[in-house]
Amino acid sequence: MKLKSLDIYGFKSFAQRTELFFDKGITGIVGPNGSGKSNIGDAVRWVLGEQSPKALRGSKMEDVIFNGTENKKPLPYCEVSLVFDNEDGFLKSDYTEVMVTRRVYRNGEGEYYLNKNACRLKDILELFRDTGVGKEGYSIIGQGRIDDILSAKSEQRRQVFEEAAGIVTYRVRKEEAERNLKKTAENLVRVNDLIEEISMRLEPLKQQAQDANEYLSQAERLKQLELNIFIIRQDRLKQRMQSVKEKMELHAQAIENAKQNIEKLSQQRNDLDLMQEALDNTESRHRKAQMQISEALQESGQEKERKQAEINALLKEKDQLLEEIKEAEQKLN
Ligand code: ATP
Repeated sequence: MKLKSLDIYGFKSFAQRTELFFDKGITGIVGPNGSGKSNIGDAVRWVLGEQSPKALRGSKMEDVIFNGTENKKPLPYCEVSLVFDNEDGFLKSDYTEVMVTRRVYRNGEGEYYLNKNACRLKDILELFRDTGVGKEGYSIIGQGRIDDILSAKSEQRRQVFEEAAGIVTYRVRKEEAERNLKKTAENLVRVNDLIEEISMRLEPLKQQAQDANEYLSQAERLKQLELNIFIIRQDRLKQRMQSVKEKMELHAQAIENAKQNIEKLSQQRNDLDLMQEALDNTESRHRKAQMQISEALQESGQEKERKQAEINALLKEKDQLLEEIKEAEQKLN
C-alpha cells in the first residue's frame, strides 16, 4: 500500500489549499523550526480519526482550524484528504484508490468521507485496523513517539508492537468479547435476582391465577346465563309482538268497518237532509196555501157579513115598501 497524496485546506498553518504528492521512494519535508512540518503529520493523524486535541498539540479540536494571521482572516472550517493507492487491495475496499476525507467546523460539527461518500468514523477505523496506518499506527511516529517506544512503560510499547503485528483486530474483538461476557455475567446476576424474586411471588401468583381462572369460568357461566336470559326475553318479546300485531290487525279491521259504517251513515244522513229539505219546502208551501185559504175564508166571511147586512137592509126596505104599499092601498080604498 502506497501513500499517494495529501490535500490540506485550513488545517493549522495551511490557510491555502496545499497538495502534497508522494512519489516513489522516500519523501522528506524540510523547513525551519515552526514552519509547519509537524502540522503535516498532525493532518495525517487527524484525517485518520484522531479525537484527542492533545495528541494534535492543541487544547480543543477547534484549534486545528486555521486561526488567522496578521494578514489573513481565520477560516470557518478545515478539511484534509489523504489518498492511498490500493491497486494491491491491501485495504479492504473495492476502490483501487482510497481517499479518506475529514472536515470540521468551528461549531464542532464534523464529517468523514470515504471516496467522497459520507461515512462514520468507525468505518475509517475499521478500514485501517491492523494496517499500521491508523491514528495509533506505528507508521505515524511523531515527535515524542519514539520516546513511547523506548519508554519503560510496557503498555505503550505493547500498543505499537500489537499494531505492527496486526493483532489489534483480535485484541479489539477480545476486549469486545470480554465486555460482552461481563455484560452477560451481569445480566445473569440480574436474571438470578429476577428468578428469586419471581419464585417468591410464585405462590401468591398461583393463588391469583386460580382466582383468575375461577373468575374466568364464572364470567363464562355468567355470559351463558345472560345469553339465555336474552334469548328467553327475546322469545317472549317476539310472542308479545305477534299478539300485539294480531290485535292491531283486528283493530285495523274494526276501524275499517267503522269507517265504512260512518260513510254509509253519512250518506244516509245526506239523503235524510235532502228529504228534510224537501219536506220543509212542502210544509212551507202548504203553510203559504193555508194562509192564502184562511185569508180567502176571512174575506169571504166579511163579504158574507156585508151581503147579509145588505140583504137585511133590503129586507127592511122591502118591509117598509110593503107597509107603504099597504098604507097606500088603504088610502086608495
Ligand atoms: P518544529 O520543527 O519546531 O517542531 P514545525 O516546522 O514542525 O516546527 P509546526 O509545529 O508543525 O512546525 O507548526 C507550528 C506552526 O504552526 C506555528 O507557527 C503555529 O503558529 C502554526 N499553527 C499551529 N496551529 C495553527 C492554527 N490553528 N492557525 C494558524 N497557525 C497555526
